[in-house]
Amino acid sequence: MTHQLFPTAALVRGPHGLALEGVALADIAAHQGTPTFVYSLAEIRRAYGAWRDALAGRDALVCYAVKANSNLGVLSAFARMGAGFDIVSGGELARVLAAGGEAGKVVFSGVGKSEVEMRQTLSAGIGCFNIESPSEVARLDAIARELGTRAPVALRVNPDVDARTHPYISTGLKNNKFGIAFDDAFDLYRDAAARPGLRVVGIACHIGSQLLDPTPMADATTKVLELVDRLAAAGIALEHIDLGGGVGIRYRDETPPTIAEYLAPILARLEGRREALHFEPGRSLVGNAGVLLTRVEYLKHGETMNFAVVDAAMNDLARPALYDAWHEVVEVAPHGEPQTYEVVGPICESGDFLAHERPLAVAEGDLLAILSAGAYGMTMSSNYNTRGRAAEVIVDGNAMHVVRERESVESLFALESRLPE
Ligand SMILES: *Cc1c(COP(=O)(O)O)cnc(C)c1O
Repeated sequence: MTHQLFPTAALVRGPHGLALEGVALADIAAHQGTPTFVYSLAEIRRAYGAWRDALAGRDALVCYAVKANSNLGVLSAFARMGAGFDIVSGGELARVLAAGGEAGKVVFSGVGKSEVEMRQTLSAGIGCFNIESPSEVARLDAIARELGTRAPVALRVNPDVDARTHPYISTGLKNNKFGIAFDDAFDLYRDAAARPGLRVVGIACHIGSQLLDPTPMADATTKVLELVDRLAAAGIALEHIDLGGGVGIRYRDETPPTIAEYLAPILARLEGRREALHFEPGRSLVGNAGVLLTRVEYLKHGETMNFAVVDAAMNDLARPALYDAWHEVVEVAPHGEPQTYEVVGPICESGDFLAHERPLAVAEGDLLAILSAGAYGMTMSSNYNTRGRAAEVIVDGNAMHVVRERESVESLFALESRLPE
């Protein structure tokens, strides 16, 4: 097995330090400042191509999970490649449409769809609502009738398989808030099929994120197919099967399956089926396309630990603080002898770290790249400590496109006001 140095081939060490595709990260820092998220268009295209190739010749739709990275530049890249989109809010639909995506290729997931969101997405003509509760069935039916239409629906079933991933990102077990209990799904399908405001079109299943083994999802597929066949026998014929997202990526030393390897046991169980296939990958499409570029403000040498205080923080990249997630940290241009550092941000929280105990050859003012930051980076960022959010840049060969300007401080309180005198 070839083990490339970095988790993406788009990241290379060139004569001017680390570069993403043909653009030196130092040039991006010089033009845009830091912290800045930088994404490789080539890596996004390669990742989407892996899904498309593995599904070639099938009636399949890859719906990019917008919550992983919802920047309009990123979404426009997927729209141009013909992707569908998996959204979890009305706001995400607005982004998809603004980026040039097709409403008909949108699936709407999530346990808490509001009435306003249902009206908005139904009027826009989205492809499918993935329903997660009996109350949602009733609400969507009522709204669709009021609008004089029929809402296309799939039930998101919970197959009760253990995805064997982090508990916060595991969603397919009985005791969590997602999906409809497997044993309740049949009756709820009958209820939905009898409602004039609904058109039952599919079934959906998503068991968790950062999956490194396809077996749980293949087992879930088998359970889903049994239900599809029982429904068909009862006169409810489904048009598509949505097998969610969740494929893991390499952050450190994980060996995730390739997309073809992940899909092989799943597709084997779908042999001879006539239903169309939907998938909802997020992380595996953008995670390794992005780095967070940050500058070392201070080096602090303590009695037992050294700290590299950088200008990115937990508000920019929450995953280390939230999940104790590992992100590789690499010098853009190494400097001197390596020492072991805690890489921390300027925020007033002990949880504000980006990495623990990393050997880094750095001086104050140097740039660091935090790898695998393309998914659940910017989208989970906040303005904590009144920090404007990072800029975002997409590189395409030798070109760089600023796809989000750095937030100004004024914009952070533009919606606020002082008390009346
Ligand atoms: C978050 C989510 C996804 C995407 O998960 P990834 O791990 O990023 O691939 C897909 N479908 C649903 C319903 C989700 O909640």
